[in-house]
This record gives sequence, structure tokens and C-alpha cells, in this order.
Amino acid sequence: MRNSTKIKSLLQSTEFDSDVTIQGWVRTKRSSKSISFIAVNDGSTLDNIQAIVDNVNFDEQTLKNITTGTGVKISGKLTKSQGKGQSVEIHATEIKVFGTTDSKTYPLQKKWHTLEFLRDIAHLRPRTNTFGAILRLRHAMAFAINKYFNDKGFYYIHTPIITGSDAEGAGEMFRVTTLDMKNPPRTKKGDIDYSKDFFGQETNLTVSGQLEAELAALALSEVYTFGPTFRAENSNTSRHLAEFWMVEPEMAFYDIHDDMDLAEDFLKYLVKYALDNCLNDLQFLNKMFDKELIERLESVVKTDFKRISYTEAVDILVNSGHKFEYAVEWGIDLQSEHERYLVEQHFNCPVMLTDYPKDIKAFYMKQNDDGKTVRALDVLFPMIGEIIGGSQREEDLEKLQKRMDEMNIPHEEMWWFLETRKYGSVPHSGFGLGFERLMLFVSGMKNIRDVIPFPRTPNNAKF
Ligand code: ATP
Ligand code: MN
Repeated sequence: MRNSTKIKSLLQSTEFDSDVTIQGWVRTKRSSKSISFIAVNDGSTLDNIQAIVDNVNFDEQTLKNITTGTGVKISGKLTKSQGKGQSVEIHATEIKVFGTTDSKTYPLQKKWHTLEFLRDIAHLRPRTNTFGAILRLRHAMAFAINKYFNDKGFYYIHTPIITGSDAEGAGEMFRVTTLDMKNPPRTKKGDIDYSKDFFGQETNLTVSGQLEAELAALALSEVYTFGPTFRAENSNTSRHLAEFWMVEPEMAFYDIHDDMDLAEDFLKYLVKYALDNCLNDLQFLNKMFDKELIERLESVVKTDFKRISYTEAVDILVNSGHKFEYAVEWGIDLQSEHERYLVEQHFNCPVMLTDYPKDIKAFYMKQNDDGKTVRALDVLFPMIGEIIGGSQREEDLEKLQKRMDEMNIPHEEMWWFLETRKYGSVPHSGFGLGFERLMLFVSGMKNIRDVIPFPRTPNNAKF
């Protein structure tokens, strides 16, 4: 076990004159002839603790070795701070230098680095205030997600990452294969023979855990998945990753209204959790990147989300007189500019859209009686656009099969999915929350590459 105290708890301590030890990395050092001030951070909080060093008590080389980035262990007496802006400091009695840092080449200097620059040094950016805050926030959100569902009696289901079905249609998939790409086995017709591949069939990385989550929901009633998903769409936007994490609750006996109630309650819970538990980091992000962040988060917690149909939304957009880059007409898939217009200009609050045209949505969504729309749900957020996509699922076997025929999805591939509609089918619903979209909203960052430790995007799988 470690024999040192986390800086976060020391900064709250009032046990003055007690002997304490910290371990961390030097952020700054200021020295005069007789005294040095060393600010140390261990990632437990945004704030550094300051060590006061009487230079005479230490050999010159030790003090020289301490530069920005150096790994250190410092012991001493906890004292009430004289300086402003900090509560306590350490009067150092012992210093151990672990790894020194060549300050000439260390990329993190005590100046403002752009987020673009930090992406190129993603191996070191956790050491910055910004990424410390982001990583702590990410942890808090992941924890809150599990806590929310656990407290409600949902079960966490681990759905597979390698999948044999590509029927979901949520996006382009990444192939998983062990075949020799230079010399793959061929069928008589000359196609690549995937029956010789590792799994004896074609396999891909999953785009969603939903279909498997449905199988579990139809036994355990309320479940969720929270895992990595992969989409090979070549969309180089600030809101898309090729590898992202998705939270997918799936609930038996929920209709679309229950689904909406859960989505709204869940999102408010997560935002409130961030405000209640990560305020220090949020204040920093608010100051540095988004002056309206905290205000926006508070407003989402307080306001009812607006609930309207896709058709009503299209009417609003068409009648708005606003000039959109992509023209609006009934039947189109809404673009982020449309979604944001509804949220930021028209309603000025989160919006939940339902009943989308069936032709732009997946085969498994529950069909409405109008024959044109399905019981889909998208939740639209300020600054983000779509943060959640979900639906009530079609539980009627015949209707589901008919829709699959229309969309050319072979029944054989989905036999296991179809059997749930054959044996004890019940109404059920679910949705998918993109974890990094949530992170964008809660952190106020503008680019999704800055809310995941090691982003995967077209032409980038470094680190
Ligand atoms: P979009 O229209 O924004 O590309 P989508 O409709 O393709 O998203 P869904 O299949 O509905 O996305 O996925 C559910 C949720 O997963 C979305 O609401 C979004 O929050 C998130 N998501 C989808 N694609 C990505 C991606 N490439 N990177 C990060 N998050 C994503
Ligand atoms: Mn969607």
C-alpha cells in the first residue's frame, strides 16, 4: 500500500503540524537564494500543493534535479498556508527525486498549449490541468452511470465486441479477420472464403450492443450495456469517433413514453452528479473554455425537456425562415444544424423528437399505425445535437419480418433475434447514449477528440 497521502485530501486537512508525505509530479518551482517553492500535483485534484523548501537543508544537486515534470516524494510538516489561494502547504524535511525531466525537451512548458498540440502528445496530456479535469470527469460520469442503473435495479450486461451480424445498420463496420490478406482463401466463385476465417464466418466489431441487450431485457426486465462500439464512417467531424463508448439501457414493459421519461431522468441525474461532485473541475473548464458551461448544466437539470414529433419539428424548421445549409423537407434525416436550431434557437431547452419516418430508421423500431413513421426517439442537446438515439422496439413477429423483407435483411441471419418475438414477446424499449457526446456536453469541450484519452478517428490510431 502507498505510504503517502493524496493531495486532494491533504488540501482539505486541518491537522496542522502533522507529518505528511505526498508523491506526484512537479508543476512549477520558484527559487530564491534561501528558499524554494515547489508546486506538486498527483492528479487527485486540479489543485497543486506547495512545498516550502529551506535550501540549506538539501544538497544542491537534489534541488537542481527538481524541474517541471519531475516525479517526487516529499515529506514534511503540514502547515497553514501564508500565501493566498491555498489552504495548506508542506514544510519539506525530506525530498526524494524519482525521475528527472529534461526541461529543454519536455513538451509541457508553463504556458498555454493549444488543444490541437496536446492531441499530438496524448501520452503526456493527462498531466495538464485540462486533461486531469477531463479524466476525472469521465471517471465520475462512468461511475454515475453504473450507480444510477444499479440503484434502479437494472443489470449490467456485457455484450460481445466481435459480432457476426451486420444487420443493425447503424454504420460502416470494421472487419475482424485472421485471414492472410495477401493470399486469402477463395470460394469457387472467386470470393474470399470466410468459412476458412477464424470464426468460420464473416465477423466485425460491434456498432451497438442493443440487439443482445434486448435478449437480456426479455428475461431480466431492465438491463444496460456500457461498452466500446466501433463505426468506420469516414466522417471527420467534431462529434464522431471511430471508437466510442455507448450506454444502452433496454427495458421490458416500457413504451416510448416510459423510454422518454427514463432518458430525461437519466440525463438530468448525470449532469447533476457532475455539478455535485466535480464542481472544482467544472469551474476550471468554465473559466478556460466555456463561460456558460455551469449555467447551461444547471439549466438542463431544472428544465423540462420539450417533447414533439419529427413532423412537428420539420414544420418548425420549414416555417422558421432560417437558411440552413441542408434544406429541410419531411423525410430527411435531420442534420446537426437543424437539431441545434430547434434546441438553441427555437425552444432553448433539450428536445425529444419521436415518430421519425421509417425509411431513415432501423428495422427493429416499432411501426406506427400511419404506415409511415416509427416510434423512434432522439434526444437533442444544446451545443451537441443528438446525444441519445432510441426507440420502442417492434414486438410483433410478423410486422418485424415484413420490415426486414422490405429492407432486404435475411431472416436466417437474425433467427435468434426473431425467436424473442416468437416466445413470450412483450413491449420493450431502449436507447443509446454516446458517452463522449455526454462528455462533450458536461465538459464544455468542442471537439470529441478532447474528451477521450486516446481518440480513434480516420487516419489516427496513435498511442
Ligand atoms: P449521428 O447521427 O450523430 O451520426 P447516429 O444516429 O448514427 O448518430 P445512433 O446509431 O443513434 O447514432 O447511436 C446512438 C448514440 O451514439 C448517438 O445518439 C450518439 O450519442 C452516439 N454516437 C453515434 N455515433 C457516434 C460516433 N461516431 N462517435 C461518437 N458518438 C456516437
Ligand atoms: Mn441516432
